[in-house]
Amino acid sequence: IRYRGIQFNYPEGVRYQYRMEGSSNESWIDAGEKREASFFDLAPGSYTFSVKAMNADGFWSDPISLNVTILQPWWWSWSARIAYLLLAIAAAYGFYRFQLSRRLAEAEATRLAELDHVKTRLYTNITHEFRTPLTVIQGMADKVAERPDRFLENGISMIRRNSQQLLRLVNQLLDLAKLESGHLSLNTQAIEINPFLAYLIESFESYAETCQLDLQHHSTLEDLIVEVDPDRLTDILSNLMTNAIKFTPEGGQVSVETHRSRNQLQITVQDTGQGIAAEDLPHIFDRFYQVDSSDTRGGEGTGVGLALTRELVQVMGGKITVESRLNQGSTFRVSLPLKVVEEVAVDAPAFTPLVEPTAIQPSSAPIATGAPHILVVEDNADVAQYIQSCLEGDFRITWAKDGQAGIEQALELIPDLVISDVMMPRKDGFELCYALKHDRTTSHIPVILLTARADADSKLAGLRKGADAYLTKPFDEKELRIRIDNLLALRRTLQERYLSGVEVTEEAPAGFEQEDTFISQFKAVVTERLDDPKLDVSALGMALNLSRTPLHNKLKALTGMSTTEFVRHIRLQHAAELLKEPQYNISEVAHATGFQSPNYFTRRFRELYGVTPKEWREARDAEK
Ligand code: ADP
Repeated sequence: IRYRGIQFNYPEGVRYQYRMEGSSNESWIDAGEKREASFFDLAPGSYTFSVKAMNADGFWSDPISLNVTILQPWWWSWSARIAYLLLAIAAAYGFYRFQLSRRLAEAEATRLAELDHVKTRLYTNITHEFRTPLTVIQGMADKVAERPDRFLENGISMIRRNSQQLLRLVNQLLDLAKLESGHLSLNTQAIEINPFLAYLIESFESYAETCQLDLQHHSTLEDLIVEVDPDRLTDILSNLMTNAIKFTPEGGQVSVETHRSRNQLQITVQDTGQGIAAEDLPHIFDRFYQVDSSDTRGGEGTGVGLALTRELVQVMGGKITVESRLNQGSTFRVSLPLKVVEEVAVDAPAFTPLVEPTAIQPSSAPIATGAPHILVVEDNADVAQYIQSCLEGDFRITWAKDGQAGIEQALELIPDLVISDVMMPRKDGFELCYALKHDRTTSHIPVILLTARADADSKLAGLRKGADAYLTKPFDEKELRIRIDNLLALRRTLQERYLSGVEVTEEAPAGFEQEDTFISQFKAVVTERLDDPKLDVSALGMALNLSRTPLHNKLKALTGMSTTEFVRHIRLQHAAELLKEPQYNISEVAHATGFQSPNYFTRRFRELYGVTPKEWREARDAEK
C-alpha cells in the first residue's frame, strides 16, 4: 500500500506510522520516511489499514483508514471445498469398491480351494471305498479259479459280501443324485411296522457282536399297520445303525428306540461312541463330509450316508436331529409322519434282508516251518484274508489290525517282511513305515505298502518314508509275489555281504547304511575283545545298547545266524587271518581269538572252512 503526506515546504521531513487492525500485530509501526507498507501473510478476512504522517515540526496528522478485504484464494473457495468433498467421497467409495471386490475375489479363491479340497477328499475316500472291495473280488475270483477245492466256499462268500458292499455304495451315490434332482419317488406299502423294525434291527446283531458291542432295542409302539416305503426306511435306519456301530469302540452300547408320539413315528439311535465335536455337528449331514477324513480314521466311509439319510427323511416328510458330545456318544432322532392304515396289504412286504459286513479272521493256514515270516497290517479283514490266501504255504503270516498294532507286533516279532495298508485307524501305513525304518531293531525289515491311493504323490510319499515297494489296490498277486521274492533275495545278498569279510569294507548299497553301521559296530565290539572267551550275549547287548531278543532277531535277519554263532564266525575269520602269520602256533591263535580249547577251535574251524587250521596254514604257505 503506497501513501503520501502532502507538505510543500519541506517534503523530506515527513515521517509516517501505520497499522493494520485485524492482523496479528495491531500496534502502530514506525515507517520512517518510507511511503509504502507491505503485508505478505494476511489470512483471508477483513482488516482496517490506518496511516498517519508527521511534519517536520513534529505535528501528527489524523490517521486515515482504508478497509481491506483479503479474499479466499480460489482453491479454498466454497465451490472448491465442495469439489474437494465430492472428490474425497468418490475416492472413499472407489477404495471401498476396490476392497470389496478384492475381498470377494479372495473369498472366491478360498471357496475354490475348499471345493478343490473337498473334491480331492471325495476322490481319495471314494476310490478307497471302491478299490478295497474290488481288490478282494478280483483277487478271490482268481484264487477260486486256481484252486476251487481250497477257496471256493470262502472265496464266493467274500466276493458276494464285497460286491454287495460296492452295490450299496453305488446305489447310495445314485440315490443321492436322484434326490437332488427331485427324481426319487417313494414306493409305499402297507406293512406291520413293529415286526419290520424288529427284524431290521436284529439283522445288525451279528455285526454288533463282531464289533463287541451291546445292541439294544426298545419299542413302545403298538401293533400298527402303516404306509411307508420299506426300502427307504431300511436305508435310513441302517445308515444310522451302521454309523453308530462303526463309531463306537469295543465294549460300547448301541440302542435303538421306537415309539409313537401323536401321529409321528419316532426312531432314536443312540450310541456310547466317540461322539462328534460341536463344530463338526452342523456339517455331518453335508455330502461327503467326514469329521475325520485323514488316513488314520477308524471305520471306512464316504460321507454319503448321512446326507442321503437326511434327504430321504425329508422326502418322507419327516425330520432328523442329532445331539452329540465328544467321547460320550451321539443320539440321532428321526421322526416320520405315521400314516396308519387298517389293513395289511395282500402282498407280503418285500424288503431285502441286509447283509452286513461281518469281520472274519484270516484262517490259520498250514505253516511252513522256517519259512519267512510276513506281518500283514490291514484293517479290512477280507483284504487281509485275501493277502493271506496269496501267500499261504510259503510264508508264516501274522495279521495286525491297524498301524499301531502293526508297529507293536513288528517290534516284538521282527518279521522278515511287512505288507501294510496305507489308510488305517490309529496309525497309517506311512507312519508305520517311518516308525519301523527309524528303529534300529526293525530298520532292516522290507516294507511293502498296499494302497487304494493310486496317485503319484502318495506313491512318492510312501517311498520317501522308506517303503521298499508300493503296490496299488487292486494289486496283482503275481506282482506281490515277485516283489516279496526280490526283497527277500536282497536280504540274502545282504547276509552274504555281512558274513564274507572280517570288516564291512565296500560302501553300503543304498538304503542299508544303517545296517552296515550296525554290523560294523558289532564286529568292532567283538574284535576289540577277541581274546576274551567270556564275551557273551549280554555283554554285547550292553555294548550295543540293545536287549537280548531284538539283538538276536536283528542278527538273524541280517546274517542268518544267532548272536553266539555270529560272534564265533567273526572269531574264526580273525583266526584265519592270524594263521597267515607264521610266528603263532595253532593254540596261540585259538587263544588269541577267544577259544579256550584248541580242539574245539579246530572243530569249529573245520566246520566253517572245510579244512583244519593246520591244513589251512599249509595251503596258504603253498600258495606263497
Ligand atoms: P460315513 O460314510 O463317513 O459314515 P456319513 O455321512 O454316514 O458318512 O457320516 C458323516 C460323518 O459323521 C462320519 O464320517 C462321522 O465322522 C460322523 N458320524 C456319523 N455318525 C456318527 C456317530 N454315530 N458317532 C460319531 N460320529 C458319527
